[in-house]
Amino acid sequence: MATFKAPKGTYDLIPPVSVKYLAVREAISAPLRNSGYGYIETPGFEDVGLFARGVGESTDIVSKEMYAFETKGGDQLALRPEGTASVLRAALEASLHKQGNLPVKLWYSGSYYRYERPQKGRYRHFSQVGAEAIGAEDPALDAELIILADQAYRSLGLSDFRILLNSLGDKECRPVYREALQSFLRGLDLDEETVRRAEINPLRVLDDKRADVQKQLVGAPVLRDYLCDACKAYHEEVRALITAAGVAFEDDEKLVRGLDYYTRTTFEFVHDGLGSQSAVGGGGRYDGLSEMIGGPALPSVGWALGVDRTVLALEAEGVELDIPASTSVFAVALGEEARRVLFAKVTELRKAGVAADFSFGGKGLKGAMKDANRSGARFAVVAGERDLAEGLVQLKDMESGEQSAVALAELVDTVKARLA
Ligand code: AMP
Repeated sequence: MATFKAPKGTYDLIPPVSVKYLAVREAISAPLRNSGYGYIETPGFEDVGLFARGVGESTDIVSKEMYAFETKGGDQLALRPEGTASVLRAALEASLHKQGNLPVKLWYSGSYYRYERPQKGRYRHFSQVGAEAIGAEDPALDAELIILADQAYRSLGLSDFRILLNSLGDKECRPVYREALQSFLRGLDLDEETVRRAEINPLRVLDDKRADVQKQLVGAPVLRDYLCDACKAYHEEVRALITAAGVAFEDDEKLVRGLDYYTRTTFEFVHDGLGSQSAVGGGGRYDGLSEMIGGPALPSVGWALGVDRTVLALEAEGVELDIPASTSVFAVALGEEARRVLFAKVTELRKAGVAADFSFGGKGLKGAMKDANRSGARFAVVAGERDLAEGLVQLKDMESGEQSAVALAELVDTVKARLA
């Protein structure tokens, strides 16, 4: 029979590596949970129009990379390529913004799908932890999110990352800059696709990674020179707040990011050990998005950090996460009666909050002890018929190798005391 493989551009998270992903999600979300962000979960797919309008028809994400499909019932849906549009849609639908408690601060964790050309750090199914602060125009909110992301990465032990920061202006000053940039781009010798991009979304041309394009872009008008006074003041305040928090960043006037909906503050976290897919996370302010998807004006800011690339960054820096063994006690039963007794003890240990596992499959002593070793358990509990006849089990400390007989009736308390 034919065997199946994970689809192109996807991979399975399997033990023991999978525990790293859990730890990364936990570490990224911890500062958010500690800062008033509530957990939100939205469907893996949405009306395709939400992304077309919210993310932008002219973006690669929507025009080339979306898994869009029609259901049997005739609905036009798409697997979510990013989180912000869905979260905002959900907040609007639940009227979270009407309860007088703006900003609405939310965090999420999940899978996202983009039909991209797969390579290391770039997958068709990937995982993000994200945060959105909806409904307030306050530079402290932008600063908070940048500081929390920095804290998350640092708590993981990462240090070779940089924060790139820019302001994209607002609906007053951005169009003026757009015009200026467009007329500059029209004078360049660009390929057909780039010329088209220059007409639809000229800021994105600044993001072009090709050296020959970048060479031509020297001398292009920079957005900073076009920012209106309000945007300038806002940006200065964000910069001051981050600086005061001791978070280092670099001003990057070329940073525009891939999505259409960003205004003002925009930022990216890049890791220098990751080669071409160096962005480990990014975000920014999206003051116009709510209106774009049919809601009221709700100035908002958010970010999404890539879990896959954060794990790669940990590997690149050689950071070993301190993940405690998941099993504390491994029970090895020799013989039928011992199986019954020890299996019951394992259940008792688990109920008492001790992580315990059992030698399944009727293995002999040698094989079962191998399993005990592999489990990483601190203690092995070994018992045969003779021990049990005396009401005893052997408790082996897997670190020191010491072994002692313990009364079966006292096993749970003894183990708890020795683990504490
Ligand atoms: P974006 O929504 O494109 O700004 O992505 C935010 C973060 O998600 C990026 O910085 C990456 O860490 C991660 N990411 C985006 N696309 C992919 C992908 N195809 N594969 C893996 N990670 C991704």
